[in-house]
This record gives sequence, structure tokens and C-alpha cells, in this order.
Amino acid sequence: MTNNHVTVLEIDAKALAHNLNYFKQKLQPTTKILAVVKAFGYGSDGVKVAQFLQDKVDYFAVAYAHEGIALREANVKTPILVLHPQIPNLQSIVDYKLEPNLYNFKIFDAFLTLADEIPLMNYPVHIKFNTGLNRLGFWHNDIPKIIESLHKTNHVKVQSLFSHLAASEDLEEKEFTINQLNNFAYIAKQFYKHLDYEPMLHILNTSGVVNYAKAQFDMVRVGIGLYGFGNDDKETAELKNTHNLKSIISQIHLIEPGETVGYNRAFVAKRHSKTATIPVGHADGLSRKLGNKNGYVLINNQKAKIIGNVCMDMIMVDVTKIDCKEGDEVIIFNNQEMLNHISKVSETIVYETLTAISQRVKKMLKK
Ligand SMILES: *Cc1c(COP(=O)(O)O)cnc(C)c1O
Repeated sequence: MTNNHVTVLEIDAKALAHNLNYFKQKLQPTTKILAVVKAFGYGSDGVKVAQFLQDKVDYFAVAYAHEGIALREANVKTPILVLHPQIPNLQSIVDYKLEPNLYNFKIFDAFLTLADEIPLMNYPVHIKFNTGLNRLGFWHNDIPKIIESLHKTNHVKVQSLFSHLAASEDLEEKEFTINQLNNFAYIAKQFYKHLDYEPMLHILNTSGVVNYAKAQFDMVRVGIGLYGFGNDDKETAELKNTHNLKSIISQIHLIEPGETVGYNRAFVAKRHSKTATIPVGHADGLSRKLGNKNGYVLINNQKAKIIGNVCMDMIMVDVTKIDCKEGDEVIIFNNQEMLNHISKVSETIVYETLTAISQRVKKMLKK
């Protein structure tokens, strides 16, 4: 069924390319780039983003197996790291040539058993170490047991060793981060001593590249930066916004003083007012916190405040002073300032604002 819902998220391909190049120029030419396209490409369209980036990056990462399967089904051939695989997905990970992160002995042993049964030959796997985030990953004292198992098999081959920083954007946590980086380097050294090959190493996410580029090792994993945010105003200013959410005015109402708008009659008109109804609501990813004049949209380049409560499928905005008509274009956001404002009012971070954009919204890659 075609989605004729007129609310569209345009993904700006030129901005994606710009952002990718911005990070490339911060790195050594030999450092590989992994583009993180999990959660539908941070709320856009992971498949469309990956199809556009596939000849420009070395790797993709997704969180879950089914996200990787979607990329393979769209004919994306680039290596894909599955950051958070689960044991029931291991067979499909192999079927779709996805590369699992093995983060504890339960999944490590399960994958080695599977690799043995099939049997696989030198199948690429990635081993994650916990260096302080305490989310996923082996501890450094697990190394001897991992090495012992690896020495007994040629069914898998460790493609990379990696870890993840807990506070790379926060320079007040610099000491903690440097400790994580040193831990990781130490783990890699221990690991290398016992293998006759050297898996790639990677630990930096977007803010890691911004703040600790020296620790780029063999590859970096860039997510939010590709989508225009550097977790720092100065960096964000160098990046371009990729997510542009647009809609139209469905209907305009002229209301009298004392009349109310929306559920719970939350907006009460103090004067003769003109309101516009727009087909985007909390089910599309707009927080209810944006209601009651906390959020705004742009109509014919002017700010129109959201009045009353955000509905599931609609918002109403005040266009009393704006020259506009039914069918006119509405910008929900099309720059970083608007997205930062929405995030602030929604009491969250831009990661959540982007990934909240729901599957109902049509996505288009604009080249
Ligand atoms: C999501 C994620 C990233 C990307 O982080 P950004 O801050 O968006 O660049 C990198 N590595 C891992 C393990 C992740 O889960």
C-alpha cells in the first residue's frame, strides 16, 4: 500500500556525504570508517542511508540481526557488524553473512558450536571488551579462555576487537575516558601476543573522534555525527543537518475569543485567531511536551507555535499573524537549531528526538 501520508522525512544525501567527509578529514587516510545505521539510520531509513553510503565507508553497524537482514535484502554488500546479537539469531546472522559481536561466553560458545556444526571456515566475528561502560563485553581476564577456544578452531576468525566509551563527549570525564583507552590498548596487546594474526581495533564513536582522535586505531564507528550532530556546538556547526521533517496544512480555522482548541480544551483563544491543523503527532515522534506553545513549526518562514495538546496524529498551530492557506508547506524541523530546541523542550537528547521519528512517517532520500 502506498503511503500517501503527506508528512515526509527527507534525508539529505549531500549532508550525509558532507558529514562523512568531515570525519574523514579528522582521521588518517588509512583509518577505516564504520557507519552506524542502527535504529533505522537514527530514525531515518537505514536501508536508504546504507545504499547511499555503501561505496563510501568500510563497514556498517546495526544493533540487531533483523536490521542487518534488511540491509542484505536491499542488496547492501558491505560488511555489517551486528552490535547486539542474541543466540536465537545466530543462524540468520550466518545466512545473511552478517558479522556478530561476541560479547560474553554464552554467545561466544554458542557461535563457535554453530560454526563447528555447519561448518563455517574463518567466519568473521568481532569480540567486544568492557572497559568501563559496563554494558556489553568481556573483561580483560577473560582473554586466556577466549584465546584457548580460538586456538582450537578455524571455523571463525576474529575480524576485530573493540570497546565502547562511556563519556566521550564529556571532557570532565577525560581521565576516565583515557583510562578506558589505555585499558583497551592493553587488552589488544595481550590478545595480539597469542594470535598469529592481528584483528582490527576500534573504540571511538562520534565524540570519540572529535575529542580523542589519536585513539582512532584501525577504524572508528560514527553514528550521530553522520546525521549532523557532534555533541558539541562547535562541531555541530561544522556538520550539516540530514533529517528534514516536512508536512502541510490540512485545515485552517478562524476562531472567536473564548473558543478552545484540541483535547482537554487546553488552548483558549484570547482574541480572534487563525489556527492550522497539521498531520503529524505524537505517534509520529513529536513529544507531547512540545504542546501548549513550547514547540513551534515554520510556515512560510515564520514561527507558528503549537497550541493545545499534541494529538496522536495531529498538531494545531497558531497562524493568526501568518499569511498561509490549506496545503501550504510546514517545516517541523530542517536544521540543527530546531532539533536542539525540540530536544531541549522534550527534555531529552537529539539521539532520542531523531530515533523517535516513527515508521509511519514516509522517508525519502534527497540527492
Ligand atoms: C550507537 C553506537 C555507536 C555510535 O555512537 P554515536 O555517538 O552515535 O557516534 C558506536 N558504537 C556502538 C557500540 C554503539 O552502540
